[in-house]
This record gives sequence, C-alpha cells and structure tokens, in this order.
Amino acid sequence: MRMKFLTALAVLSAGFSVSISAAAVEPATLVFTEGNVITMNAARSLAQAVAVSGNQIVFVGTNAEVQPYVGKSTKVIHLNGKTLLPGFIDAHMHPIEGAIDLAKCSADDVAQNIATLTAKVLKGCVAKEGNAPVTKWIDVVKVNSTNFIATATDLDKISNRRPVILESIDGHTVWVNSVALKLAKITDATPNPVDGRIVHDEKGHATGALIDGATHLALSLVPPLPLAQQVSWSIKAFDLFHSKGITSVQDAMVGPEELQVYDALIKSGQMHLRVRAALKSAIGDDEEEYRRLNALRAHYAGQPFFRADSVKIYTDGVVEYPTQSAALIEPYLDLNGNLTTNFGGRYFTEEMLNKYVSRLDREGFTVHVHSIGDYTTHATLNAFEVAKQINGVTDNRHQITHLQIVDPVDYARFAELKVMANMQLFWAVPEDNSVESVKPYINADRYLHMYPAGSLKKAGATIVGSSDWDVDANPGDLMPNTPLSAIQVALTRKNSDPNSKFFGQVLNADETVDLDTMLAAYTINAARALKQEQSTGSIEVGKLADLVVLARNPLTSPADKLASIPVQFTIFDGAIVFQLSPGGVGVGH
Ligand SMILES: [Zn+2]
Repeated sequence: MRMKFLTALAVLSAGFSVSISAAAVEPATLVFTEGNVITMNAARSLAQAVAVSGNQIVFVGTNAEVQPYVGKSTKVIHLNGKTLLPGFIDAHMHPIEGAIDLAKCSADDVAQNIATLTAKVLKGCVAKEGNAPVTKWIDVVKVNSTNFIATATDLDKISNRRPVILESIDGHTVWVNSVALKLAKITDATPNPVDGRIVHDEKGHATGALIDGATHLALSLVPPLPLAQQVSWSIKAFDLFHSKGITSVQDAMVGPEELQVYDALIKSGQMHLRVRAALKSAIGDDEEEYRRLNALRAHYAGQPFFRADSVKIYTDGVVEYPTQSAALIEPYLDLNGNLTTNFGGRYFTEEMLNKYVSRLDREGFTVHVHSIGDYTTHATLNAFEVAKQINGVTDNRHQITHLQIVDPVDYARFAELKVMANMQLFWAVPEDNSVESVKPYINADRYLHMYPAGSLKKAGATIVGSSDWDVDANPGDLMPNTPLSAIQVALTRKNSDPNSKFFGQVLNADETVDLDTMLAAYTINAARALKQEQSTGSIEVGKLADLVVLARNPLTSPADKLASIPVQFTIFDGAIVFQLSPGGVGVGH
C-alpha cells in the first residue's frame, strides 16, 4: 500500500495537482507546506501542501504551487515533514451522554469487586459531598461489569438512606440499592420490560441488577444535571475529541435529552463538531413514531453542524458474563462447557423488525442497528434483505454496529446488501472483557473469529471505525479509545497495556486488517456512513477544512507505535481548534 501512495505523489508532483487557476487566486487564510499530505482521495494521492480559504480547501498540491496562495494575512504552518490527514470521523459514540458522565462519580472502568468499589465510593465521592440531602442520588458511572456481581443489600452499604445506582460502563447493566428499588417500584413480581430483564435470585427476589431496557426503570428517576452544566461538559468533551484529531461524529443515540443540549449548543454558536444524530427509537410499527422521526429530520435540515437523518435501534444487549444479553444462535455455555437455556435477549419479533426496517429504509433514513450476537446480526441482515426486496436498492448506508460475534454465513451479505460494518476495533484485544467473561461461555469456533474485521473485509464489507465513547476509560485517561489506538489494535490485535495481565497477547491474529482499510474507516468510509463524503473524509479541493496534523507518518510507523503518534493540530471548519503546546500539553480553542 505504501507503494501506491508513493506512486501517487509522483503523479501529483508532475503537475496534476488540482487547484483554481494560479493566476487568479485569492490569498488563502491558512496554508500548510512541506508536509506529508495523505489525501485519502480515491487514488490515495499524496501531496505536500494545502491551502484553506475560510472553511474550504482551495488547493492541494506541491510546495511550489501553493506559493500564490500565501498573502500578507495568510497563516502559514510549516509542517516540516509532519503528516496532514482528513480530520478523523468517529462513526459511533455518545458525545453528550459521555460528557454528562464526566460530571459524575466515576469508577474509571477498573475491574474490581463490590467491596473494593464500595470503599472507594465512600472515601471518595460520598465523603466529598459532605451532608447531602437524603433524596439526592449517589450515581456511580463507568463500573467495569466483568464478572461483577452486586445486590441491593451490597449497595445499601454505600447508603441505606439515599438512593444508590451503579452504571456499567457499557450502559447495559445498572445495580441499585433498596431505596432505589422502592423508588422505582420494582418488586419481585414486576414483569420484565420487552427489551430488558430484572435479575432475580434463586428464590425469585429482585436482586437490584437491571439489564438493558430494564435499566430505565431506575435511570429515568435520576434527576438530570442542570442544562447549563450539561452544555459546559459537552464543550469540554468536544475539546477532548479535538485533542484526538476528531472533527465529526455520529451520535449513536439521540433522545429528547440530548436534543436539548444540541439545541443549546447550536443557539449559542458552540457546535464545534459535526454531529450526525442517530435518533433513538424502538422496534415497532407506529405512524406517530414515523412522523416524529421525519419531523426531527426536517427540523434540523440545513444546520451546518448537526443533522438527524439516522435512526438507532437495539436488537440485543452484551455478551459478557454475567449480563449475557447478546442474542446467540447457540445458547451460552456454563463453566463446564455444557449448553445452558440462555440464548440472550431477543427483544423483537422478526416480522416486526422486517416491517420497521423496511419502512425506515423507504423513508430514506440510515438504520443504525446495535447487534453484538450472531442471532441478531443474522436477523438484521434478513431485515435489510426484505427492505431491498420491497424498496429496491436504496443508498441509505445502513449499519450494524459492534458485531462481536458473527455467523460466517453472514460475512458476504454485508457487501451484497451494502450494509456497513461499524466496528469498535479497540476492543479486539485479549483483556478481561474479551477473555474471562466471554471465552468460557461461547462456542469455541465463534470465539476464534470474535470481532471478525479481517473476515468481513475479505468478504468485501466496508469497515467503519468508531469508539462508542465513553464506553472506555482508564484512571487519568478520559478517552483511551482514540482513532489511532483503535487503528493500532485493528492492525495488531495485540494488548499493549503493560499493566494488563494480557500484555503482549494477541486476539485472533487472522482477523487483522491493513492500514489503508483503517485510515479509510476513520476518514472517507466513515464520511460515507454519515452521508457526508461530498464535504468531508478526504483532502480535496472544494471539501470542508476538517484536518488533523500528526507528528509522525502512520504510513511509515511500526504498527505497534501508531497509538502513540501525537496529534499536533486539529482544524475544524477552517479554524485551529487544538494545538499541541511545545511542552506537549494541548491547548483548546
Ligand atoms: Zn453505543
């Protein structure tokens, strides 16, 4: 692949660069020279220089040819061999929800048992609060759910007066104390919602653990932060994304709460991020819901930084023990390797899924489907096939996201049905979440192809990259799952955390993909997934100036050093929104 790039550079240098006629050019506002410009255009051309006027790229080519664009007021950035790429696009994350989590008591995704966590919460967040009113919730986020078991009685040790809720970092389980169970009116007789499960012990008592849709029974009672605080935390989150080179995202679940924050950001001119919203919906067939989705899409049409033309649905939960709500074709195994009766959460009928997906496809929405298990991915692909039979071939860029366990018979169907594989490949390493709480419980063949990026790629699927932020955190690191770190994992599948007991180990080496696949997954292919490849995703004349400067060239970097390449500058809509200070500390806009 490196050869291809180098050949392309020769072509560009020979005078085939694209620009407005040199005699008539206006001075640009921003010029990059002496760089290694990886354009990510169709030919994968390289260049040396780029000129930006306002928020638009007006020239891509050589150092000599860019000179006419340099005027008295032009800001010139001499890249000195550094690399310029299109700004990264994270095609599935939760910017607002994650931002609000930043304000809450955090367990930092550290694997720990309830006793350790209780001690930390009491000494930390609860002690810091002092005398809080008895009605105030103790809300702990980013709890690592790997083999984590806790009951309401356990949580009563955090407080037996105030409501307590622990939220798993993946968002699929919460644990509440006795006060919160009572407030949520959950008794041993409360039926499961259609899309979730209230966990009971052998005696039939509700334990305090709530899974998937059942989490809302308690979560909906926690009062939201004041809007002004939600807005200011969101701005901090946007700065965090800029520091990782991210300029566009797909918000993977936008409900009324998130829309309120976006409205405030838009109104106050603080939307320094391109956001494509996947509107939160549920599998059903309801004219009122179709009207609501259409009205929201129309309402935001024409906004420069916010669109709402995708719909998010859940088909299952997560595979990790003890939650095990991802829907599998073969049931989960017990620790002796015997089949259990648990097939995971099948939260829909296939008939309804087909009907709903077909209708959304006909209405022109991108359908963005959460599926972890092979059963739901198969059923979702069936639904897209039905939609194609009914509506013909559309160009809606439907996506299945997560794709942890996929039936090999389905690999080729992604290309056939033009369904994009939206993957969080940062997770494709041996770690607690992928080994201890998964490996013993699922079919060994399936485990060998977990996160099957290589197989999907070989079968012609388009891979799109994303973080699912804030599903990952480390103490002191709010976003370990950056585009560059996910790209590194996708190429190596190797655990590079020296503090992990899995350090140096590889998960399913056959499932690696190459660098071009991953650079595209975070630039031009992600732009396609967001239906914005006409304006972003590559460095080409006429596109918007969303750019990232990297201190080292990923094309020549060893694969296991990609994650540590510093982001030097991030440019959003023509403006520098992040700059690494000489001391290595970034400054925001
Ligand atoms: Zn998500």
